[in-house]
Amino acid sequence: MKIVGLTGGIGSGKSAAAEIFVSLGVDVVDTDKIAHQLTAPGGMANPLIGAAFGAEMLGNAGEMDRPKMRAMAFENPAARQRLEEILHPLILTQAQNELAKIAIIKAYAILAVPLLYERLTFRSMLWRTISIDCTEETQIQRVIQRPGLSFAAAKKIIAAQAPRSIRLQLADDVIHNGASLSSLRSQIETLHMRYLGLLSRTDLRA
Ligand code: ATP
Repeated sequence: MKIVGLTGGIGSGKSAAAEIFVSLGVDVVDTDKIAHQLTAPGGMANPLIGAAFGAEMLGNAGEMDRPKMRAMAFENPAARQRLEEILHPLILTQAQNELAKIAIIKAYAILAVPLLYERLTFRSMLWRTISIDCTEETQIQRVIQRPGLSFAAAKKIIAAQAPRSIRLQLADDVIHNGASLSSLRSQIETLHMRYLGLLSRTDLRA
């Protein structure tokens, strides 16, 4: 089974795109969800985070204090790197476990990775990558609807991610998500048919 990486900047529409793939019968493994599970109460990463950063980075139920950690990682590159060193191997193992459970008859599965082009962790597993693309203005408009995310914070997050031009350059396939959700769906349906066509060629199957 081939694995297709799905990425895009904050608010580009990765989750919306993933939902559409699921509706077409494609399995999606979401590394963001895995990261949340690993740092939720009972999550495997919490003891390591406590040991590296101190108990003050954990909440009452032993979960990672997400806002505190986000603030720290944003201000302090060494802390961000340490956090990634803890999380990435755990995310990779869990993603591989989830991918291994997907039925062998599936031609491909999607691996959603927000920072796919910024980090090397997943690249070697992927058959190809999709970038969900929209303008920065659209990204900001979408994410400031979320509680607690200001215009300035959204700008800061966008500035810390790979520039749009790099994502467009590195993607094998680009889905434009600056218009309606039905336009997003129809592009994904077309891409899905193309992938199934490519993967019906025995020379491309693995
Ligand atoms: P994040 O990087 O924060 O996880 P994301 O890339 O997964 O974000 P989504 O959560 O899918 O982005 O989309 C952000 C918001 O924009 C959501 O509320 C979603 O419903 C909305 N949205 C996405 N695409 C469209 C669209 N084409 N038209 C209208 N709203 C959209």
